[in-house]
Amino acid sequence: MTQTIMLVEDEESLSTYLCSELKFEGYRVLLAEDGQAAWDDFQQKGAGIDLILLDWMLPKLDGLEVMRRIRKTSQVPIMMMTARDYVGDKVAGLDNGADDYLTKPFEIEELLARLRVLLRRHGNTVANYRVADLELDTKARQVHRGGQLAQLTQREYDLLLVLMQHVGTTMSRDELLDAVWGTEFDGQVNIVDVYIRYLRQKLGGPNLIHTVRGVGYALQAAND
Ligand code: CA
Repeated sequence: MTQTIMLVEDEESLSTYLCSELKFEGYRVLLAEDGQAAWDDFQQKGAGIDLILLDWMLPKLDGLEVMRRIRKTSQVPIMMMTARDYVGDKVAGLDNGADDYLTKPFEIEELLARLRVLLRRHGNTVANYRVADLELDTKARQVHRGGQLAQLTQREYDLLLVLMQHVGTTMSRDELLDAVWGTEFDGQVNIVDVYIRYLRQKLGGPNLIHTVRGVGYALQAAND
């Protein structure tokens, strides 16, 4: 299972270094170079992010403000990084929902060790979703239908996760496109229809992903 880390860091030399180290360790990395970009990305892709590595001093929105906004809706693990070594900053960071705190400069091995601790701790509490005999396990990133493992691609998994998080709710194609492909995707919106078809094929019957004509799709048990 690939875990996704959102790295929020405006200092290019550090972000380049951290990106390559994290990728080497097998993580998927989403880079945001200022606080506004981080907040925008989080709103679009938050469901797929396992941990946020958040710099404190950032252009546009500072790290503390980004964290406050995220904490209104999400308990995703957040590790703050700062060049400042003031006790007051650490207290403010932890008081506002940071799970851990690193002062720059730090040893990469220490960062990686602390990331593993946070991911492991959080991994024990993440949600599983179930609709009829369809089960999605966010820790293992696995999907079972009637007890059988469904072999989904990353994109298919992401799409199903969004639908399961909004069970019983009609999601428009645009909402699904933004949540799964991101707001910067500039292809055709009917890619959503294509992936819904893949999902239906892989999940088998009875169909749980219902077409809501002229609007989009809703996932729910057939007899709801
Ligand atoms: Ca900075």
